[in-house]
Amino acid sequence: MALLEVDNVSKAFGSLKAVDQVSFKVEAGEIFGIAGPNGSGKSTLFNIITGIPFGPDGGSVRLDGVDLQGLPGHSIARLGLARTFQRETSFDGLTVFENALIGSTYGKPGKPSAEAHGRAADALELMGLRSAGFGRLAGELSVFDRKCLMLATAIAMGPRILLLDEPASSLTKPEIEASIDLIRRTAERGITIVLIEHVLTFLMSLSQHLMVLNNGQVLASGVPQSVIADPRVVEAYLGTRRAA
Ligand code: ADP
Ligand code: MG
Repeated sequence: MALLEVDNVSKAFGSLKAVDQVSFKVEAGEIFGIAGPNGSGKSTLFNIITGIPFGPDGGSVRLDGVDLQGLPGHSIARLGLARTFQRETSFDGLTVFENALIGSTYGKPGKPSAEAHGRAADALELMGLRSAGFGRLAGELSVFDRKCLMLATAIAMGPRILLLDEPASSLTKPEIEASIDLIRRTAERGITIVLIEHVLTFLMSLSQHLMVLNNGQVLASGVPQSVIADPRVVEAYLGTRRAA
């Protein structure tokens, strides 16, 4: 059984079918890439899988065999599914360490345990945020460091599967290289990763499986090298039909 099974999910906004009968399976331990032009439904797909802020209109999502239908976002997170957002989000008035602690104490009311402190520090260090900077306010960090903090906070939750929405957006080339390395390190921890990215080269260097969305539907899915060679994918990305 796959770790994540998404079966025929859809989400409409009025007459717009943002996600239209999408199905896929993510095996434990893999990095599963999702590509597609802007507006193709990638972020909406994450929204309906995580229930934040809404679930699907139809279809089903199973995490390790457990049907997530109707569960609120926080219950889904507690089952081991965490996500990051396309725009870096953090509690800007809290320190770096306090942000990560929110992840590691999620769903565990009361005073943070020593174990939660350890998990927060470990996640921050894994994401390259050094202990000397743990007391800085999140709002003072650079865009790149805020993205690293958002990742660290999600990792501190101890997820089995992590959904990353365009982690490379608005980063410079060297920062993109650095985030590829951070995502690899996360996967080496045994966390399964579903990675949305608009930039194909980013996905190609990380993913074992690639799915391309277009107009809310699955356009192609399979081994990354063959998927990007698919003429329909080329057309969706370049927007032109190549002359025969
Ligand atoms: P992507 O992440 O691939 O760029 P999105 O999933 O954000 O695409 O959006 C898919 C389509 O759904 C777009 O046309 C977008 O404008 C629309 N959409 C997304 N979220 C909403 C919403 N909350 N209300 C109305 N339309 C939305
Ligand atoms: Mg998006």
